Amino acid sequence: MPDAVDAVETPTPRRKPKPAKREIGGRPLKPSTLMMGHGYDPVLSEGSLKAPIFLTSTFAFESAAAGKRHFEGITGLREGGAEGLVYSRFNGPNQEILEDRLAVWDGAEDALTFSSGMTAICILMMAYCGQNDVIVHSGPLYAASEGFVAKVLSRFGVTYVDFPAGATRAELDAVLERAKAQAAAQGGKVAMIYLESPANPTNALVDVEAVRDARDAVLAGVPIAIDNTFLGPLWQRPLEHGADIVAYSLTKYVGGHSDLVAGSIAGAKRWMDPVRALRNTMGGIVDPNTAWMLLRSLETVELRMQRAGENAAKVCAFLREHPKVEGLGYLGFIADPRQQDIYDRHCLGAGSTFSLFIKGGEAECFRFLDNLTIAKLAVSLGGTETLASHPASMTHLSVPQARKDLLGITDNLVRISVGIEDADDLIANFAQALEHV
Ligand SMILES: *Cc1c(COP(=O)(O)O)cnc(C)c1O
Repeated sequence: MPDAVDAVETPTPRRKPKPAKREIGGRPLKPSTLMMGHGYDPVLSEGSLKAPIFLTSTFAFESAAAGKRHFEGITGLREGGAEGLVYSRFNGPNQEILEDRLAVWDGAEDALTFSSGMTAICILMMAYCGQNDVIVHSGPLYAASEGFVAKVLSRFGVTYVDFPAGATRAELDAVLERAKAQAAAQGGKVAMIYLESPANPTNALVDVEAVRDARDAVLAGVPIAIDNTFLGPLWQRPLEHGADIVAYSLTKYVGGHSDLVAGSIAGAKRWMDPVRALRNTMGGIVDPNTAWMLLRSLETVELRMQRAGENAAKVCAFLREHPKVEGLGYLGFIADPRQQDIYDRHCLGAGSTFSLFIKGGEAECFRFLDNLTIAKLAVSLGGTETLASHPASMTHLSVPQARKDLLGITDNLVRISVGIEDADDLIANFAQALEHV
């Protein structure tokens, strides 16, 4: 007679939940539905409805052979990466669930998470750049991204070619030809085309479809990456317009509560693999607690962004008519037909971050900012609360005046990120602050 312990049927250990049904009656489930359960099976965690936070540095192998197999995947001796959890610099349950859910929003095969948006962007660029390579990028970029290319990668012989956000197909062809010649002259290759759209703080849009067509014609095989922090994941889906890799500062709309810092990239697995390999080496993966907070954030990201977008439309309709306002850089009111055409083809909403041009200069902007009571005076964006800042004297203070002029970062520009407060309260607060101008 077997002893009682042996008689207990031990289930086969199974780390990953069974692939959940992602359709109902032949119709694919929407991301907002999938955010409540995709990638997590409560049965694997004592029935806990929500994923626990897994605070561990390492994971026990089922057998020595399983351990060997994991390392074959991690070290690249075998295709496909690790089949299980190994060590927390490589991955963990909270991060894997988060990566599965982030991939859903962008319709991507795979996603990777990082300790900040800049960690994501730096590791992405380093994974693709070799010595003497060229990066082609749209301008302006987030200052730290631009600085990483110009000041850090340049130490390894990497140079860049940049182009203005609104560039046309013909202009893009010429830019890519120039980059190709530059790479040949310095003995490298064009490693990546890196975009940011809309640009900060001007909200200028890049024609991703034209970039893809130009790439296919001039530099086939070179990956196109795009920073989608300002409109993603709700209002712009760049992988559908020709981008290969989409990058995020999750600190902004995705995290959405101004209480964490994190980043991600998503795309086809073949584009993610070199980045995963470098992340395995360097670290920089998001921590389990932050990953858990982001899972909570993802359950409401659609609600929050919709409300913020509606609020911004109401606030901008008010500001546009105000006598002390010179103009707005808001994607809901585009004046330039070329920009409107890009918007119509690429964007599903105008977002909630915009530029307000006040009649006057720095002094008038400061009086406006100092008299806001609901909106907080802070950099960053995409949170539940409305934030306002003065780029020329804050985020872009170190940008040389000539480049500020070129980019349209004027002394009378206030950047506003509208949150999910009551729209009428916000309008009343902006009206009051404008009275002091
Ligand atoms: C904030 C931001 C980043 C950097 O993200 P962190 O999470 O602060 O590292 C990159 N790109 C854009 C467009 C951003 O707004």
